[in-house]
Amino acid sequence: MSKYVFVTGGVLSGLGKGVTAASIALLIKSMGYSVTAIKIDPYVNVDAGTMNPYMHGEVFVTEDGGETDLDIGHYERFLDINLSKDNNITTGKIYSIVIEKERRGDFLGQTVQIIPHVTDEIKHQIELVAKKYGSDVTVVEIGGTVGDIEGLPFLEAARQLRLERGPENVVFTHVVLVPRISTLGELKTKPAQHSMQELRRIGIQPDILVARSSTPLTDEARGKLSLFGNLPPSHIFSNPDVDVIYEVPLRLHAQGLTKVLAKKLELEYVEPDLSPWVEYVEKFNNPERRVRVAMVGKYTKLTDSYLSIIEALKHSGTSLGVRPELIWVEATDVEKGVVNVQEISSSVDGAVILPGFGERGVEGKINAIRIFREAGVPLLGICFGLQLMVVEFARNVLGLSNAHTTEVDPRTPHPVVDLLSSQRGTIVKGGTMRLGSIEVKLIPSTLAWRIYEGVNVVSERHRHRYQINPAYLSSFEENGFIVSGVGPEGFPEIMELRSHKFYLGVQFHPEFKSRPLRPSPIFTAFIKALVGLPLS
Ligand code: GLN
Repeated sequence: MSKYVFVTGGVLSGLGKGVTAASIALLIKSMGYSVTAIKIDPYVNVDAGTMNPYMHGEVFVTEDGGETDLDIGHYERFLDINLSKDNNITTGKIYSIVIEKERRGDFLGQTVQIIPHVTDEIKHQIELVAKKYGSDVTVVEIGGTVGDIEGLPFLEAARQLRLERGPENVVFTHVVLVPRISTLGELKTKPAQHSMQELRRIGIQPDILVARSSTPLTDEARGKLSLFGNLPPSHIFSNPDVDVIYEVPLRLHAQGLTKVLAKKLELEYVEPDLSPWVEYVEKFNNPERRVRVAMVGKYTKLTDSYLSIIEALKHSGTSLGVRPELIWVEATDVEKGVVNVQEISSSVDGAVILPGFGERGVEGKINAIRIFREAGVPLLGICFGLQLMVVEFARNVLGLSNAHTTEVDPRTPHPVVDLLSSQRGTIVKGGTMRLGSIEVKLIPSTLAWRIYEGVNVVSERHRHRYQINPAYLSSFEENGFIVSGVGPEGFPEIMELRSHKFYLGVQFHPEFKSRPLRPSPIFTAFIKALVGLPLS
């Protein structure tokens, strides 16, 4: 049976609780134990797929096509394992199951209530995941902040689990903000104290406290947190801001967290080998060169919307000793003429056309693509990025002036990007895109084929409803914009412009498979092109 480490958050959200949970999971894994991680999102949506990135940040796509919370991405990157849609549990998911069971008659005669029916289902779903992975330890991060109404059933389920399994099998970690008031220069522990009080009111006494602050925790602050939080100072860990998130597990380990976790969970302590991470952080912090990359999208005000892409650029960059500096280009500002892409194109080393949905910002992206293409700036288009590279090429090279994707203009005379045939008749929006890992056949001798080192078939993750219309392919190919990867249904998955050093678009999302210690070949090839390194 698995042991559990619950990670809750206090004071406010956006504290990097996901990174803390991922770090804890990594430290336990590094002792040689098998670990999986679950993210609980107390919102009523069944999954993250129907939310705007501005609400939520990126939707992270798993191998099995789950549209999940971005913390699942952190877990995959820290643990270097593939998780599934089951690793993300939401209120919507739990209630759907409970209501379905009620309708089926599973609870006949009973009044179905939050306690015990909903809390039982929460525990059951958590245990199913632990069983599926056969994990020694399952880290369960409860999203939101202690005190949120939505989170209560999940905290109650966690409390019950501790009662049923005992403290050696269920450990509570609380992550809090300890703000520093700049005029006083002092770390203030009061909000953290209140948040721990709130937890205790629910029946949970944290075993471990992780304090997020701009500067390291002082002894005085630690003393107060210990006294008012009712836990020993040795169980309080300082997690100040760092430049690279992979430094977090190293800092927590250096303060003795791994030993405390082993002791609390009654697991034999094994000194972990964290040297690959030490090396990564070292390399990240000491780049040999820097490149400037324009990031063209329409959710640029919340860069978490593109978290995995940012990560993937850093992973590949770090492996090559290159630090990418990201220049955010808001597509709607391009449309308004507020930003000058011409100027940007002469000051950047490359550009990424980011994924997206819908009409807003599209013409801005298309304009930017034209300028980058004409200036010969290395360009990587991801999903919608590729689709708009195709629209731009159709309009400006093939002369099909009103060419478009039918997502934006359903009546275009030249639907160069069109709804996937498998999507026709799909009305339900949740979880119905072409999702998850799908094989892509590479065309020998193309750039894509060389990027993947001559492998013939690769598997990458997808999330889209539209595809490049094969009817126009011969015209594209005659003009040097060729298909270099094909999906099982026969439509293009990768296209590249022959005449350019690097002008490549992918229908899939290579960012979801990039890991710090195992970067994505596509991003690595892109960074190499930016610094003029040969592919191999
Ligand atoms: N909106 C496009 C589609 O649905 C692209 C999606 C994306 O960029 N993830 O096909």
